[in-house]
Amino acid sequence: MFSRQLSANQKADLDSQAINNFRAYLQIPSVHPNVNYDACIKFLENQAKSLNLPITIVSPVPQKPIVILTRVGTEPTLPTILLNSHMDVVPVFEEKWAHKPFSADIDEHNNIYARGSQDMKCVGIQYLEAVRRLKKRGITLKRTLHLSFVPDEEIGGFDGMKRFVRTKDFQDLNVGAALDEGMASPTDEFALFYGERCVWHLKIHCSGRPGHGSLLLDNTAGEKATHILNKLFAFRNQEKQKLVDNPSWTLGDVTTVNLTQISGGVQANVVPPELLITFDCRIPPEHVNIATWEETVNQWCKEAGVWVEYPVKQPQILPTKLDNSNIYWVAFKKSTDKLGLKLKPQIFPGATDSRNIREIGIPVIGFSPINNTPILLDDHDEYLGVETFLKGIEIYCGILISVGNVEERSG
Ligand code: ZN
Repeated sequence: MFSRQLSANQKADLDSQAINNFRAYLQIPSVHPNVNYDACIKFLENQAKSLNLPITIVSPVPQKPIVILTRVGTEPTLPTILLNSHMDVVPVFEEKWAHKPFSADIDEHNNIYARGSQDMKCVGIQYLEAVRRLKKRGITLKRTLHLSFVPDEEIGGFDGMKRFVRTKDFQDLNVGAALDEGMASPTDEFALFYGERCVWHLKIHCSGRPGHGSLLLDNTAGEKATHILNKLFAFRNQEKQKLVDNPSWTLGDVTTVNLTQISGGVQANVVPPELLITFDCRIPPEHVNIATWEETVNQWCKEAGVWVEYPVKQPQILPTKLDNSNIYWVAFKKSTDKLGLKLKPQIFPGATDSRNIREIGIPVIGFSPINNTPILLDDHDEYLGVETFLKGIEIYCGILISVGNVEERSG
Protein backbone atom coordinates (compact mmCIF):
# COMPACT_ATOMS: atom_id res chain seq x y z
CA MET A 1 0.00 0.00 0.00
CA PHE A 2 1.40 3.36 -1.03
CA SER A 3 1.04 6.01 1.64
CA ARG A 4 2.83 9.24 2.36
CA GLN A 5 3.29 11.26 5.51
CA LEU A 6 1.83 14.74 5.64
CA SER A 7 4.09 17.76 5.99
CA ALA A 8 3.65 20.05 8.99
CA ASN A 9 2.05 22.64 6.73
CA GLN A 10 -0.40 20.17 5.22
CA LYS A 11 -1.25 18.98 8.72
CA ALA A 12 -1.88 22.53 9.93
CA ASP A 13 -4.09 23.23 6.91
CA LEU A 14 -6.09 20.06 7.53
CA ASP A 15 -6.49 20.95 11.21
CA SER A 16 -7.86 24.40 10.48
CA GLN A 17 -10.15 23.02 7.77
CA ALA A 18 -11.47 20.44 10.28
CA ILE A 19 -12.11 23.10 12.92
CA ASN A 20 -13.87 25.34 10.39
CA ASN A 21 -16.05 22.47 9.20
CA PHE A 22 -16.88 21.47 12.77
CA ARG A 23 -17.87 25.02 13.69
CA ALA A 24 -19.92 25.47 10.51
CA TYR A 25 -21.82 22.23 11.22
CA LEU A 26 -22.40 23.27 14.86
CA GLN A 27 -23.76 26.62 13.69
CA ILE A 28 -26.65 24.87 11.92
CA PRO A 29 -29.48 24.88 14.49
CA SER A 30 -30.74 21.35 13.77
CA VAL A 31 -32.47 21.44 17.13
CA HIS A 32 -35.70 19.81 18.28
CA PRO A 33 -38.62 20.16 18.03
CA ASN A 34 -39.49 20.12 14.30
CA VAL A 35 -35.99 20.02 12.88
CA ASN A 36 -35.49 21.31 9.34
CA TYR A 37 -32.62 19.27 7.90
CA ASP A 38 -32.17 21.30 4.68
CA ALA A 39 -29.10 23.18 5.93
CA CYS A 40 -27.48 19.93 7.08
CA ILE A 41 -28.04 18.39 3.63
CA LYS A 42 -26.50 21.41 1.93
CA PHE A 43 -23.52 21.33 4.29
CA LEU A 44 -22.95 17.61 3.67
CA GLU A 45 -23.32 18.04 -0.11
CA ASN A 46 -20.50 20.58 0.04
CA GLN A 47 -18.41 18.17 2.11
CA ALA A 48 -19.00 15.41 -0.43
CA LYS A 49 -17.89 17.77 -3.20
CA SER A 50 -14.72 18.78 -1.38
CA LEU A 51 -13.89 15.13 -0.69
CA ASN A 52 -14.91 14.06 -4.19
CA LEU A 53 -17.16 11.34 -2.77
CA PRO A 54 -20.56 10.22 -4.03
CA ILE A 55 -23.50 11.26 -1.87
CA THR A 56 -26.91 9.61 -1.65
CA ILE A 57 -29.94 11.04 0.10
CA VAL A 58 -32.88 8.79 0.89
CA SER A 59 -36.00 9.78 2.77
CA PRO A 60 -38.03 6.77 3.93
CA VAL A 61 -40.17 9.44 5.63
CA PRO A 62 -40.62 12.86 3.96
CA GLN A 63 -38.51 15.65 5.50
CA LYS A 64 -36.45 13.03 7.38
CA PRO A 65 -33.41 12.59 5.13
CA ILE A 66 -30.71 9.95 5.55
CA VAL A 67 -27.51 11.29 3.99
CA ILE A 68 -24.79 8.83 2.94
CA LEU A 69 -21.31 9.63 1.70
CA THR A 70 -19.43 6.64 0.33
CA ARG A 71 -15.78 5.86 -0.15
CA VAL A 72 -15.56 2.72 -2.24
CA GLY A 73 -12.93 0.20 -1.13
CA THR A 74 -10.58 -1.81 -3.33
CA GLU A 75 -12.64 -4.94 -2.58
CA PRO A 76 -16.14 -3.53 -2.86
CA THR A 77 -17.87 -6.90 -2.55
CA LEU A 78 -16.71 -7.28 1.07
CA PRO A 79 -19.22 -6.26 3.75
CA THR A 80 -18.86 -2.53 4.37
CA ILE A 81 -18.22 -0.36 7.42
CA LEU A 82 -20.98 2.06 8.41
CA LEU A 83 -19.85 5.22 10.21
CA ASN A 84 -23.05 6.55 11.69
CA SER A 85 -23.85 9.88 13.31
CA HIS A 86 -27.05 11.83 13.86
CA MET A 87 -27.63 15.37 12.63
CA ASP A 88 -30.16 16.45 15.25
CA VAL A 89 -29.50 17.93 18.68
CA VAL A 90 -31.58 18.32 21.82
CA PRO A 91 -33.19 21.66 22.79
CA VAL A 92 -31.31 24.36 24.69
CA PHE A 93 -32.17 26.77 27.47
CA GLU A 94 -30.24 29.63 25.96
CA GLU A 95 -30.41 31.84 29.07
CA LYS A 96 -28.41 29.21 30.97
CA TRP A 97 -25.56 29.26 28.47
CA ALA A 98 -22.47 31.49 28.88
CA HIS A 99 -21.90 31.16 25.11
CA LYS A 100 -24.57 31.21 22.44
CA PRO A 101 -25.42 27.54 21.80
CA PHE A 102 -25.24 27.85 17.99
CA SER A 103 -22.29 30.24 17.66
CA ALA A 104 -19.58 27.63 18.24
CA ASP A 105 -17.40 30.18 20.08
CA ILE A 106 -13.88 29.15 20.99
CA ASP A 107 -12.88 30.42 24.44
CA GLU A 108 -9.45 31.24 25.87
CA HIS A 109 -8.95 27.59 26.87
CA ASN A 110 -9.44 26.51 23.25
CA ASN A 111 -12.79 24.87 23.93
CA ILE A 112 -15.58 25.00 21.34
CA TYR A 113 -18.98 25.70 22.89
CA ALA A 114 -22.12 24.54 21.11
CA ARG A 115 -25.06 22.19 21.34
CA GLY A 116 -23.90 19.07 19.53
CA SER A 117 -20.19 19.59 20.24
CA GLN A 118 -20.18 16.28 22.17
CA ASP A 119 -23.46 14.73 21.02
CA MET A 120 -22.56 14.12 18.27
CA LYS A 121 -21.66 16.51 15.47
CA CYS A 122 -18.02 16.11 16.55
CA VAL A 123 -18.06 12.45 15.52
CA GLY A 124 -19.74 13.14 12.16
CA ILE A 125 -17.03 15.66 11.27
CA GLN A 126 -14.25 13.46 12.64
CA TYR A 127 -15.34 10.65 10.27
CA LEU A 128 -15.25 13.09 7.34
CA GLU A 129 -11.89 14.55 8.30
CA ALA A 130 -10.37 11.11 8.90
CA VAL A 131 -11.41 10.12 5.37
CA ARG A 132 -9.96 13.38 4.04
CA ARG A 133 -6.61 12.58 5.70
CA LEU A 134 -6.53 9.02 4.43
CA LYS A 135 -7.16 10.31 0.91
CA LYS A 136 -4.43 12.95 1.24
CA ARG A 137 -2.00 10.28 2.38
CA GLY A 138 -2.93 8.06 -0.55
CA ILE A 139 -4.28 5.34 1.74
CA THR A 140 -6.91 3.10 0.24
CA LEU A 141 -8.91 0.58 2.25
CA LYS A 142 -10.17 -2.82 1.20
CA ARG A 143 -13.65 -2.23 2.52
CA THR A 144 -16.10 0.41 1.43
CA LEU A 145 -16.93 3.04 4.04
CA HIS A 146 -20.41 4.53 4.26
CA LEU A 147 -20.73 7.70 6.33
CA SER A 148 -24.38 8.03 7.32
CA PHE A 149 -25.90 11.18 8.78
CA VAL A 150 -29.34 10.42 10.16
CA PRO A 151 -32.26 12.45 11.52
CA ASP A 152 -34.29 12.26 14.71
CA GLU A 153 -32.02 10.10 16.88
CA GLU A 154 -32.82 12.32 19.83
CA ILE A 155 -36.51 11.45 19.57
CA GLY A 156 -36.06 7.71 19.21
CA GLY A 157 -35.05 7.40 15.56
CA PHE A 158 -38.51 6.12 14.58
CA ASP A 159 -38.48 8.08 11.31
CA GLY A 160 -34.70 7.82 11.05
CA MET A 161 -32.44 4.82 11.63
CA LYS A 162 -35.17 2.56 12.97
CA ARG A 163 -37.06 2.93 9.70
CA PHE A 164 -33.97 3.04 7.49
CA VAL A 165 -32.54 -0.34 8.61
CA ARG A 166 -35.70 -1.99 7.27
CA THR A 167 -35.33 -0.58 3.73
CA LYS A 168 -33.74 -2.03 0.60
CA ASP A 169 -31.52 1.07 0.48
CA PHE A 170 -29.98 -0.04 3.75
CA GLN A 171 -29.66 -3.66 2.66
CA ASP A 172 -27.87 -2.51 -0.47
CA LEU A 173 -25.18 -0.91 1.69
CA ASN A 174 -24.14 -4.47 2.68
CA VAL A 175 -23.04 -3.35 6.15
CA GLY A 176 -20.78 -5.75 8.05
CA ALA A 177 -20.26 -3.58 11.13
CA ALA A 178 -21.00 -0.07 12.33
CA LEU A 179 -19.48 2.58 14.52
CA ASP A 180 -21.84 4.93 16.33
CA GLU A 181 -21.77 7.37 19.21
CA GLY A 182 -20.34 6.81 22.66
CA MET A 183 -20.00 9.37 25.40
CA ALA A 184 -17.35 11.66 26.83
CA SER A 185 -15.24 10.33 29.68
CA PRO A 186 -14.00 12.55 32.52
CA THR A 187 -10.94 10.32 33.06
CA ASP A 188 -8.03 9.16 30.94
CA GLU A 189 -10.06 6.16 29.79
CA PHE A 190 -12.33 6.15 26.76
CA ALA A 191 -15.85 4.81 27.22
CA LEU A 192 -16.82 2.13 24.71
CA PHE A 193 -20.33 0.77 24.41
CA TYR A 194 -21.23 -2.68 23.13
CA GLY A 195 -24.88 -2.87 24.13
CA GLU A 196 -27.81 -0.92 25.47
CA ARG A 197 -30.48 -1.42 28.05
CA CYS A 198 -34.05 -1.62 26.86
CA VAL A 199 -36.68 0.85 28.00
CA TRP A 200 -39.98 -0.13 29.57
CA HIS A 201 -42.50 2.38 30.83
CA LEU A 202 -44.83 0.95 33.46
CA LYS A 203 -48.10 2.79 33.75
CA ILE A 204 -49.75 1.37 36.84
CA HIS A 205 -53.49 1.78 37.30
CA CYS A 206 -54.47 1.75 40.98
CA SER A 207 -58.27 1.68 41.24
CA GLY A 208 -59.91 1.59 44.65
CA ARG A 209 -62.95 2.41 46.65
CA PRO A 210 -63.75 6.12 46.44
CA GLY A 211 -65.42 8.05 49.25
CA HIS A 212 -65.25 10.98 51.58
CA GLY A 213 -61.89 12.08 52.95
CA SER A 214 -63.14 11.87 56.52
CA LEU A 215 -63.53 8.04 56.48
CA LEU A 216 -61.16 5.10 56.85
CA LEU A 217 -62.24 2.96 53.91
CA ASP A 218 -60.64 -0.32 52.85
CA ASN A 219 -59.17 -1.01 49.42
CA THR A 220 -58.47 2.58 48.51
CA ALA A 221 -56.38 3.56 45.49
CA GLY A 222 -53.84 5.09 47.87
CA GLU A 223 -53.30 1.85 49.81
CA LYS A 224 -52.84 -0.09 46.58
CA ALA A 225 -50.46 2.51 45.21
CA THR A 226 -48.44 2.34 48.43
CA HIS A 227 -48.04 -1.42 48.09
CA ILE A 228 -46.67 -1.23 44.55
CA LEU A 229 -44.51 1.81 45.36
CA ASN A 230 -42.93 -0.06 48.28
CA LYS A 231 -42.12 -3.04 46.06
CA LEU A 232 -40.58 -0.95 43.31
CA PHE A 233 -38.58 1.24 45.68
CA ALA A 234 -37.27 -1.77 47.61
CA PHE A 235 -36.11 -3.18 44.27
CA ARG A 236 -34.57 0.18 43.36
CA ASN A 237 -32.58 0.20 46.61
CA GLN A 238 -31.26 -3.28 45.86
CA GLU A 239 -30.04 -2.17 42.46
CA LYS A 240 -28.41 0.92 43.96
CA GLN A 241 -26.64 -1.29 46.48
CA LYS A 242 -25.27 -3.48 43.67
CA LEU A 243 -23.48 -0.43 42.27
CA VAL A 244 -22.04 0.33 45.72
CA ASP A 245 -20.90 -3.29 46.18
CA ASN A 246 -19.35 -3.53 42.71
CA PRO A 247 -17.35 -0.34 42.07
CA SER A 248 -16.40 -1.38 38.52
CA TRP A 249 -20.05 -1.67 37.50
CA THR A 250 -21.83 1.12 35.65
CA LEU A 251 -25.50 2.04 35.31
CA GLY A 252 -25.67 -0.24 32.28
CA ASP A 253 -25.14 -3.26 34.53
CA VAL A 254 -28.23 -2.74 36.69
CA THR A 255 -31.96 -2.28 36.19
CA THR A 256 -33.06 1.25 36.98
CA VAL A 257 -36.63 2.07 38.00
CA ASN A 258 -37.67 5.65 38.56
CA LEU A 259 -41.01 7.12 39.52
CA THR A 260 -41.65 9.75 36.86
CA GLN A 261 -45.36 10.61 37.00
CA ILE A 262 -48.25 10.44 39.45
CA SER A 263 -51.74 11.59 38.62
CA GLY A 264 -55.31 11.20 39.83
CA GLY A 265 -57.75 12.59 42.32
CA VAL A 266 -60.46 15.18 41.96
CA GLN A 267 -60.28 17.31 45.08
CA ALA A 268 -58.54 17.39 48.45
CA ASN A 269 -61.35 15.87 50.54
CA VAL A 270 -62.31 13.03 48.17
CA VAL A 271 -60.68 9.58 48.14
CA PRO A 272 -60.12 9.07 44.40
CA PRO A 273 -61.40 6.14 42.34
CA GLU A 274 -58.02 5.83 40.59
CA LEU A 275 -54.38 6.88 40.90
CA LEU A 276 -51.97 6.48 37.99
CA ILE A 277 -48.29 5.89 38.63
CA THR A 278 -45.67 5.81 35.91
CA PHE A 279 -42.19 4.30 36.21
CA ASP A 280 -39.34 4.59 33.74
CA CYS A 281 -37.52 1.28 33.76
CA ARG A 282 -34.27 0.31 31.97
CA ILE A 283 -33.24 -3.31 31.74
CA PRO A 284 -29.71 -4.57 30.93
CA PRO A 285 -29.26 -6.64 27.75
CA GLU A 286 -27.57 -9.51 29.57
CA HIS A 287 -27.77 -11.26 32.95
CA VAL A 288 -31.39 -10.21 33.49
CA ASN A 289 -34.09 -12.57 32.32
CA ILE A 290 -36.68 -10.18 31.00
CA ALA A 291 -39.50 -12.75 31.23
CA THR A 292 -38.73 -13.22 34.93
CA TRP A 293 -38.69 -9.46 35.42
CA GLU A 294 -42.11 -9.17 33.82
CA GLU A 295 -43.46 -12.00 35.98
CA THR A 296 -42.14 -10.22 39.07
CA VAL A 297 -43.85 -6.96 38.11
CA ASN A 298 -47.06 -8.83 37.38
CA GLN A 299 -46.84 -10.61 40.74
CA TRP A 300 -46.38 -7.32 42.61
CA CYS A 301 -49.33 -5.81 40.75
CA LYS A 302 -51.47 -8.84 41.56
CA GLU A 303 -50.62 -8.59 45.26
CA ALA A 304 -51.42 -4.88 45.22
CA GLY A 305 -54.67 -5.36 43.30
CA VAL A 306 -53.59 -3.05 40.48
CA TRP A 307 -52.90 -3.53 36.78
CA VAL A 308 -50.06 -2.43 34.58
CA GLU A 309 -49.98 -1.09 31.05
CA TYR A 310 -46.76 -0.73 29.00
CA PRO A 311 -46.78 2.38 26.78
CA VAL A 312 -43.14 1.54 25.95
CA LYS A 313 -41.88 -2.05 26.03
CA GLN A 314 -38.70 -2.47 24.00
CA PRO A 315 -37.29 -5.91 23.32
CA GLN A 316 -34.00 -6.93 24.89
CA ILE A 317 -31.38 -6.70 22.12
CA LEU A 318 -28.27 -8.86 22.23
CA PRO A 319 -25.10 -6.87 22.80
CA THR A 320 -22.25 -6.86 20.30
CA LYS A 321 -19.66 -9.51 21.13
CA LEU A 322 -16.29 -8.20 22.20
CA ASP A 323 -14.29 -11.37 21.62
CA ASN A 324 -12.39 -13.21 18.91
CA SER A 325 -15.62 -14.19 17.17
CA ASN A 326 -16.03 -10.54 16.10
CA ILE A 327 -13.38 -9.73 13.48
CA TYR A 328 -14.32 -6.04 13.52
CA TRP A 329 -13.80 -5.78 17.28
CA VAL A 330 -10.44 -7.54 17.01
CA ALA A 331 -9.38 -5.00 14.36
CA PHE A 332 -10.77 -2.07 16.37
CA LYS A 333 -8.95 -3.17 19.51
CA LYS A 334 -5.70 -3.72 17.64
CA SER A 335 -5.79 -0.11 16.42
CA THR A 336 -6.70 1.44 19.78
CA ASP A 337 -3.99 -0.67 21.49
CA LYS A 338 -1.49 0.61 18.94
CA LEU A 339 -2.60 4.16 19.74
CA GLY A 340 -2.21 3.42 23.45
CA LEU A 341 -5.86 4.15 24.29
CA LYS A 342 -7.37 2.76 27.47
CA LEU A 343 -10.90 1.56 26.77
CA LYS A 344 -13.68 0.93 29.27
CA PRO A 345 -16.22 -1.36 27.57
CA GLN A 346 -19.68 -1.03 29.06
CA ILE A 347 -23.42 -1.07 28.44
CA PHE A 348 -24.89 2.30 27.42
CA PRO A 349 -27.11 3.69 30.18
CA GLY A 350 -29.50 5.38 27.71
CA ALA A 351 -30.57 4.55 24.17
CA THR A 352 -29.02 5.48 20.81
CA ASP A 353 -29.49 4.45 17.19
CA SER A 354 -27.02 1.60 17.83
CA ARG A 355 -29.91 -0.46 19.14
CA ASN A 356 -31.72 -0.18 15.81
CA ILE A 357 -28.64 -1.48 13.97
CA ARG A 358 -27.90 -4.25 16.49
CA GLU A 359 -31.52 -5.33 16.31
CA ILE A 360 -31.01 -6.55 12.73
CA GLY A 361 -27.91 -8.49 13.75
CA ILE A 362 -25.10 -6.08 12.82
CA PRO A 363 -22.29 -5.56 15.36
CA VAL A 364 -22.01 -1.95 16.56
CA ILE A 365 -19.29 -0.28 18.58
CA GLY A 366 -20.38 2.91 20.33
CA PHE A 367 -17.36 5.16 20.65
CA SER A 368 -16.78 8.91 20.81
CA PRO A 369 -13.05 9.68 21.07
CA ILE A 370 -13.48 12.10 23.99
CA ASN A 371 -11.54 11.59 27.23
CA ASN A 372 -10.54 13.92 30.07
CA THR A 373 -13.72 15.89 29.39
CA PRO A 374 -16.83 16.30 31.55
CA ILE A 375 -19.97 14.57 30.26
CA LEU A 376 -22.08 17.45 28.97
CA LEU A 377 -24.45 15.81 26.53
CA ASP A 378 -27.86 17.49 26.83
CA ASP A 379 -26.36 19.90 29.41
CA HIS A 380 -25.89 23.68 29.32
CA ASP A 381 -22.57 24.95 27.93
CA GLU A 382 -21.79 21.72 26.10
CA TYR A 383 -18.22 21.97 24.81
CA LEU A 384 -15.35 20.05 23.32
CA GLY A 385 -11.66 20.97 23.44
CA VAL A 386 -10.07 21.69 20.06
CA GLU A 387 -7.13 19.43 20.89
CA THR A 388 -9.44 16.57 21.86
CA PHE A 389 -11.41 17.06 18.66
CA LEU A 390 -8.27 17.00 16.49
CA LYS A 391 -6.82 14.03 18.33
CA GLY A 392 -10.10 12.21 17.69
CA ILE A 393 -9.55 12.55 13.94
CA GLU A 394 -6.16 10.85 14.23
CA ILE A 395 -7.75 8.13 16.36
CA TYR A 396 -10.35 7.48 13.66
CA CYS A 397 -7.61 7.37 11.01
CA GLY A 398 -6.01 4.51 12.94
CA ILE A 399 -9.33 2.75 13.51
CA LEU A 400 -10.43 3.04 9.88
CA ILE A 401 -7.14 1.72 8.52
CA SER A 402 -7.49 -1.31 10.77
CA VAL A 403 -11.24 -1.98 10.58
CA GLY A 404 -11.46 -0.99 6.88
CA ASN A 405 -8.84 -3.58 5.95
CA VAL A 406 -10.00 -6.47 8.09
CA GLU A 407 -10.02 -9.79 6.23
CA GLU A 408 -13.04 -12.04 6.19
CA ARG A 409 -12.49 -15.05 8.40
CA SER A 410 -11.52 -17.94 6.17
CA GLY A 411 -13.21 -21.32 6.57
ZN1 ZN B 1 -26.41 11.32 20.42
